[in-house]
Formats: sequence, C-alpha cells, structure tokens
Amino acid sequence: GVSASTNDPNAISSIIPGWFSEISPMWPGEAHSLKVEKILFEGKSEYQNVMVFQSSTYGKVLVLDGVIQLTERDECAYQEMITHLPLCSIPNPKKVLVIGGGDGGVLREVARHNSVEKIDICEIDKMVVDVSKQFFPDVAVGYEDKRVTLHIGDGVAFLKAVPQGTYDAVIVDSSDPIGPAQELFEKPFFESIARALIPGGVVCTQAESIWLHMHIIEDIVANCRHIFKGSVNYAWTTVPTYPSGMIGFMLCSTEGPSVDFKHPVNPIDSEISAKPLKFYNSELHTAAFCLPSFAKKAIGSK
Ligand code: SAM
Repeated sequence: GVSASTNDPNAISSIIPGWFSEISPMWPGEAHSLKVEKILFEGKSEYQNVMVFQSSTYGKVLVLDGVIQLTERDECAYQEMITHLPLCSIPNPKKVLVIGGGDGGVLREVARHNSVEKIDICEIDKMVVDVSKQFFPDVAVGYEDKRVTLHIGDGVAFLKAVPQGTYDAVIVDSSDPIGPAQELFEKPFFESIARALIPGGVVCTQAESIWLHMHIIEDIVANCRHIFKGSVNYAWTTVPTYPSGMIGFMLCSTEGPSVDFKHPVNPIDSEISAKPLKFYNSELHTAAFCLPSFAKKAIGSK
C-alpha cells in the first residue's frame, strides 16, 4: 500500500504504519484507529486471537480477534454503566452472575454493592483472564473480591445448568456476535437467563450500537418482549474506543415485583468510597434511557 508518510495529499493508505485500525465486517466502511507505542502481548487461544498494546493516548488496550474490548482510559464508561444500571435498579441484589467479562472490570463494579453475597462469573477463555491479570491490574482487581467464583466455560451451557430462580441479576458482558459470543445474542440464551432469575430479577446485556446494528437490536428487543414479562428497555452510553463511539445495553426484568429501570431505587454512594466511580451517577442512569428519535422509533419503549 501507499505509505502514510507520503507527501501526496491525495494518497490513501489502508494501513497506517504504527497505528492499530479496527477493521471488521461488523462496521463496514469505517475503522477507528489508535496510535501504537508498543505491542505488549500477542497470543492465540482456543477461541480467539488475543493482543495487548500500549497506545499513545488511551493507555493499554485489550484486543480480541482484531476488536477493541477495553482501554484503560475509557473502560469505566462501559463497566460502570453495564453494572450499575441493573444493580441500582433493584433494592437488594444478593446473587449476581456475569457472563463473559473475563477482564474482571464488571466484577470490580459488582463488588461495590455491599448487599451482594455471591458473584459467579462464566468466561469462555482463560487467556483473557490471565492476560488481564498480567496487564490490567486495575481492571482484574475484581477477581480479588472474596465473593467471586470464576467458572471457565461457555456461558450458554453454564446458564442451562443453573437452577431456576437462582440470581437477582445477570450481566452479559460479551464480545460481538461474530465468534464465540454468537449464541449470547440468540433467543434460547435469553430464555435461560429468564429461568435463572428470581421473580423481579434483572438482566443487562451488551447490546451493540444504534448507529451500526439496529437490525440486531430490533431482534434482541423482539425476543426480550416475548421472554421477559416485567420491563424491557434499551439504554446507552458513550465509549470513545467502541465502534461509532457508543454502546447500548438491553435491560429487562422478569415477572414479579416491578422494576422501573429509569428511576434507580438503590443509589450507589461513590463519594465515601476509597475508589470513587469515574463515570456513573444517578442522573446519567436516568438519562441513559433517553433515545435519539430514530432509535426511539425503531426500538419503542415499554
Ligand atoms: N469488559 C469489556 C469492556 O470493558 O468493554 C469487554 C468485553 S469482555 C472482554 C467479553 C468477553 O466475553 C471475552 O473475554 C470473551 O472471551 C467472552 N465470551 C465470548 N463468548 C463467550 C461465551 N459463549 N461464554 C462466555 N464468555 C464468552
């Protein structure tokens, strides 16, 4: 290809030397790029390619199969929202299940809730856990909490074996639906989640971008309306290093005590904590459910 350092202003370089570009059929025709200082790790697990690099402006970056999973600078926006949107919406979460989330960041956030007695995590790829412990200690710190039990395995199979009515909350921190996470976006998986929850229990799943994946979101919403007899809502947050700069969440509750996701009943007091929240607060919680008009039209709300 043509070098980016060429003086020809019309030259187009597909790969800029020294930059990581996130090219994927999930977002055809665009690719966010970060300047690379140093590649710190490259490996291939049973499930995916795993890479860690030092970027020049976002700290260390974890990449799976060429897709950015987290950066040190903006991971708070994702981990805090995917965790506290569900857990601050119910009065007294006790048992929580995390599917995916091998980096440990969601565990770190769940552990802030004093009412929680048990945290299970089912991550398919042990390499993600090991790499996170080695390169992202401020994220993997979640594993140090005594309430956490790590299960290495497929989240789909794990949930099928969970006795009915076990968890107050399930958080699905998955990668995109190309690769090992594909089934985590399909109807049978959502049915297993509903079964695993107590009445009035909640689920929050990674639900892609309204700019890029409206068809995926509409399918998820349709499935969830069938399966979850409580409330079904879509929320979103900004994450600069995710494709289109944002990511959405599907939040649903099972039949039982009603859950009004837009009005948190279990606020988390960050000021008194030694490690204050960087992103989440109660105002953002409510605002996260306000959708742009085009998305509101496609998704609707219940
Ligand atoms: N927490 C992150 C962040 O800050 O954006 C990103 C997502 S996390 C790294 C996604 C995880 O889901 C990956 O570690 C991947 O291995 C895991 N995963 C994918 N498919 C899975 C499955 N079927 N069961 C369990 N975990 C799965």
